[in-house]
Amino acid sequence: MKRAAPFVVVLLVGVAGLYFSQRRHDPAPVSANAIVAMAADAQRDLSRAPMRLTRLSDAEEIAVGKQLAAGYSISAEKLSPEQQALDSYVKQVGHAVSANAHRHLPYSFHLVPDRGMINAFSLPGGPVYVGEGMLDLMTSEDELAAVIGHEIEHIDHYHCAERVQIEARLRNLQLGIVGAILQIPVQVWEAGYNKDEELEADREGMRLAVLGGYSPYGAVTMFERFSKLHSEYVVHALNPEEELTQLAIQSLQGYFRSHPLPSERLAQANSLIAQEGWQDRKMQKPFRIEYEVQNGKFVK
Ligand SMILES: [Zn+2]
Repeated sequence: MKRAAPFVVVLLVGVAGLYFSQRRHDPAPVSANAIVAMAADAQRDLSRAPMRLTRLSDAEEIAVGKQLAAGYSISAEKLSPEQQALDSYVKQVGHAVSANAHRHLPYSFHLVPDRGMINAFSLPGGPVYVGEGMLDLMTSEDELAAVIGHEIEHIDHYHCAERVQIEARLRNLQLGIVGAILQIPVQVWEAGYNKDEELEADREGMRLAVLGGYSPYGAVTMFERFSKLHSEYVVHALNPEEELTQLAIQSLQGYFRSHPLPSERLAQANSLIAQEGWQDRKMQKPFRIEYEVQNGKFVK
């Protein structure tokens, strides 16, 4: 339970009312994941609705992303030394992978310090977030590159920007009005996109990771792991006593609900590797963080 605190901080800004009202009735912090799952379902339906949209300018998109990112910012002092090291690792890999993105935007990369969060998401204009629970599942840096590449491509291919416009339209928000955008619940961004966009982010993210010097097999081994987890925790509904906490399992189930089946993502990754002739790029770097602690404080 000690680990749940940072997640609460993340949620407070976006859905303070909701959090407190749920907290009164039910002290278990599982409600946040349930909201993500609900948002995922709603999102899938929304994305199907035909809508004619005028594209935001890059400057508008960046401004909107900045407003939203303020709701997620966590000061470094609140992170343990290990979490600070994870945060710099996410930044380091993120910068290598984003170097070859099509759009030149202020991409930035952040850890969400919550082991119960098995997810990653991006905001319009550049910010990318990776949950600590997702990092816990990784065994190679190339897997991190695959996950980050996927999130960058949601920004790079305007999926995030279009989401702002769809949400604004549905909620009758005026994009120009400061604060209006903040009425979009933060979970909307964690809830994934439609299937075509998810598969596009997978393909394009793999290309970015390869251009950044990573193995395309990072995506393959990540999807194999998802596939195993999907079978254990969704198909066979394993007892929460096994390995993952209840919170992490709910988060994982929300993730699977909002993304194409891992088997399908894996098949696409393998066919892209065959098509691009990447079969000789099998070697992956181990997932490794190194950091120094002095007097209990993170040094570098
Ligand atoms: Zn995605």
